[in-house]
Amino acid sequence: MKLLDGKKLSEKIKEEVKKDIEKLQKEHGITPGLAVVLVGDDPASHTYVKMKERACKEVGIYSIVHQMPSSISQKEIEETILMMNKNPNIDGILVQLPLPKHIDTTKILELIAPSKDVDGFHPYNFGRLLQGLETFAPCTPLGVMELLKEYEIDVKGLDACVVGASNIVGKPMAALLLNSFATVDICHIYTKDLKSHTKKADLLVVGVGKPGLITEDMVKDGAIVVDIGINRLENGKLVGDVDFENVSKKASYITPVPGGVGPMTIAMLLKNTLKAAYKRIDS
Ligand code: NAD
Repeated sequence: MKLLDGKKLSEKIKEEVKKDIEKLQKEHGITPGLAVVLVGDDPASHTYVKMKERACKEVGIYSIVHQMPSSISQKEIEETILMMNKNPNIDGILVQLPLPKHIDTTKILELIAPSKDVDGFHPYNFGRLLQGLETFAPCTPLGVMELLKEYEIDVKGLDACVVGASNIVGKPMAALLLNSFATVDICHIYTKDLKSHTKKADLLVVGVGKPGLITEDMVKDGAIVVDIGINRLENGKLVGDVDFENVSKKASYITPVPGGVGPMTIAMLLKNTLKAAYKRIDS
C-alpha cells in the first residue's frame, strides 16, 4: 500500500504558485486577489477561511474576508458580491458554505461572475465542466485529480465508484473522472446496495461525511481509495469516511485523513485564483 500524500504535493504546488505569482508581478504588475464571503459563526467555516487566508499570504495572493453576521440579509450579501464582481483588484470570489438557512445559496452563487468563480460552483462553469470544456473546476475534486496524476495513476478505462453526489464534491468528481475516460458509478443516500458498487471499483472515491462508512469488505483487493470525508469525532480526532486502518491493508493506494485531499483543496484554490488573475493580461 502506498499513501497518496496530499500534504507533500500541496507544498510543492504552493511553491510553484508562489514562483508564478512573483513572475506575474514582475512582468505585468499584477497581484492576484481573492475575496472571501464568510457569514455567521460556524467554527468549521471560520477555520477553513483562516487556512485559506494563511495559504494566500504564503504564496503572495492578496486576500480580503467579508465577514458578516448570520442575521445578514440576502440583499446585503448580493450587494457585496456585485461590488466584488466589479473590483478590478479581485480575481476570485469565494462564498464559504454553508450559508444560513434564510439565505438562497443558489442565487448567491449564481451572482458570482463566472470569470471570478474560483470555487467552480456557478452553473455556467459546472455546465462547461460536464461538457469537458476549459473552466474552473471545484477545488476538492480537482485536487483529487492532481493527486492521482502525481502518482502516475491513469484513470482511463478504470471502473471508478464515487460515493456521495453533492454539487460541490461528488458530481464534479464524477464529471472529472468521466472526462478522463473512467467508467463512473455514482452512489448516494438512496443507493440500494452500496457494497455491490464499491466492491467492483478499481478506484473508489468517497465524499459523504460519515465516519466508518466504507469498511474493508466493501473494497476490492488492490483498489485505489480516495477519502474526501472530513469528520471530527467526539474525542476531537479528525477522520474520513473510510475505515483507514483496515482498508489500507487491501488498497494499492490510499489517502490519509488528515493530510490527503484536504490540503489539495486549498492548493487548488490558489491555482484557480492564479488562473483567474492571468485573465487580466488579455483584458
Ligand atoms: P453533502 O452532505 O452535501 O453530501 C453528502 C452526499 O453523500 C450526498 O450526495 C448524500 O446522498 C450522500 N450520502 C449520505 N449518506 C450516504 C450513505 N449512507 N451512503 C451513500 N451516500 C450517502 O456533503 P459534501 O459537502 O459533499 O461533503 C461530503 C464530505 O466531504 C464531508 O465530510 C465534508 O466535510 C467533506 N469535504 C471535504 C473537503 C476536503 O477538502 N477534503 C471539501 C469539501 C467537503
